[in-house]
Amino acid sequence: MEDEQNKPSILVVEDESSLARFLQLELDHQGYKVGTAANGFDAVARMAEGKWDLVLLDIMLPGLDGFEVCRRIREFWDVPVIMLTARGDTPDKVKGLDAGADDYLTKPFATDELLARVRARLRRAPVVMRSNRKLFVLGITIDYDTRQVVRDGHNISLSKREFDLLAYLAENTGIVLGRNAILDHVWGYNYYGDTNIVDVYIRYLRSKIDEPFPTKLVQTVRGVGYTLREES
Ligand code: CA
Repeated sequence: MEDEQNKPSILVVEDESSLARFLQLELDHQGYKVGTAANGFDAVARMAEGKWDLVLLDIMLPGLDGFEVCRRIREFWDVPVIMLTARGDTPDKVKGLDAGADDYLTKPFATDELLARVRARLRRAPVVMRSNRKLFVLGITIDYDTRQVVRDGHNISLSKREFDLLAYLAENTGIVLGRNAILDHVWGYNYYGDTNIVDVYIRYLRSKIDEPFPTKLVQTVRGVGYTLREES
């Protein structure tokens, strides 16, 4: 139950039922909690219902259109809004951004592109959620059962030790972990080696999880240890 509450929740506002259904399945598959609204009035009503972490908002809707829904959302909520537009012309995009949307996507869009935008918006505030033994943080998905790691849609192959190290850092996102704590947690109390092994494995981890990406997440805190957070 607690897991369920920790999932980021996304409200999909889309009157085209096949697309709404597709988005719902796709987002659900990615581990998000998904709600839907098929028209503008319903969207505003569902906003009042509870906390949404992100809204996907179609522009052409029965009742209130997406621009008006966005304006009403903005009166009360600071939630990220990504607008879905069937028309690719600039005036609509500008109008959407004027109405307070954070981003827009032109239909038809690739699922990967949509998911990347959703992750980018949710990433502003690190979201740690565990669901089905998965951890999602800063665009990284860690699956404890399959021991798979995905960053921004790319599979990252890690050794057992690298995986454990990343999982420990991710579980403590934003918290600085000392070398001894890392050693105890990842290598275990019976490990008698040097703490330098931590630095060595941090280097391995960085080469896989950070090097291919523009934003570096594994940070060194001089004299203290390491932490997972976006570089400032
Ligand atoms: Ca529509």
